[in-house]
Amino acid sequence: MTGLTSRLAAWPAALAWQLLPGRCVLCEQASNCARDLCAECHAALPWLGHVCPQCALPQLADTDPMPATVESASATTPCSACLLHPPPYLRCIVPLRYATPVAQMIQRVKFANGRVEARVLGGLLGDHLRQQTAADVDLIVPVPLGIRRLLRRGHNQAGLLAHWVGRATQLPVDHELCRRTRATPAQSGLSRRARLRNLRGAFAVRTRIDGVRIAVVDDVVTTGATVAALSRALLDAGAAAVHVWAVARTLDPQPLESSPH
Ligand SMILES: [Zn+2]
Ligand SMILES: [Zn+2]
Repeated sequence: MTGLTSRLAAWPAALAWQLLPGRCVLCEQASNCARDLCAECHAALPWLGHVCPQCALPQLADTDPMPATVESASATTPCSACLLHPPPYLRCIVPLRYATPVAQMIQRVKFANGRVEARVLGGLLGDHLRQQTAADVDLIVPVPLGIRRLLRRGHNQAGLLAHWVGRATQLPVDHELCRRTRATPAQSGLSRRARLRNLRGAFAVRTRIDGVRIAVVDDVVTTGATVAALSRALLDAGAAAVHVWAVARTLDPQPLESSPH
């Protein structure tokens, strides 16, 4: 696309928010952009900064509170824990820390079907990884909820987020590929080892996916046990590689996460 045609193509969106300015989901002022989040609230979010590319845990002095791109946000060498015991996923990309106000926004997506919050958070994640990472992936798969939780809540928060990440990255989303094979007790309060045991064999993949590069989308990564179990199931079904894309990462060993999947 030439410079002129890309500018013309951007007109309707630019015009739309000039006529109907978005309202910031956090401060309720006009956002003055296509997203329902104003520039001040965007800048004040708890950005993770420099993290390990494989587990998304901070590993360098965090001097850059809001990296512009994932390239500037992440070190290129995995942390010593990942070098010693590599997780089954190739990369884990998470822009935000699970802290106020992101935690409250995620809770709204999870328990109150917060569609505005899902659009804002999914869009933020999509923007964060769009430049570099989408080219390495063929298909987006949300972490599935168990049928009982799905019936109780009526929606899967990872599915809502995956929808918006798919829109931002122009990648297809398959909401049906994976399912939970059994109810797993709540993960809160369990150690990583107990979580891994709890999740063994918990996911099934409906069809072979030989050679497909998958991005698993979730709301929060805590110990990584859930996304590791799903990654193993996808690799067993033939996936060429699995990436993990999540909105937020808990850094506290006793996370805020009140009700994981
Ligand atoms: Zn605001
Ligand atoms: Zn790591």
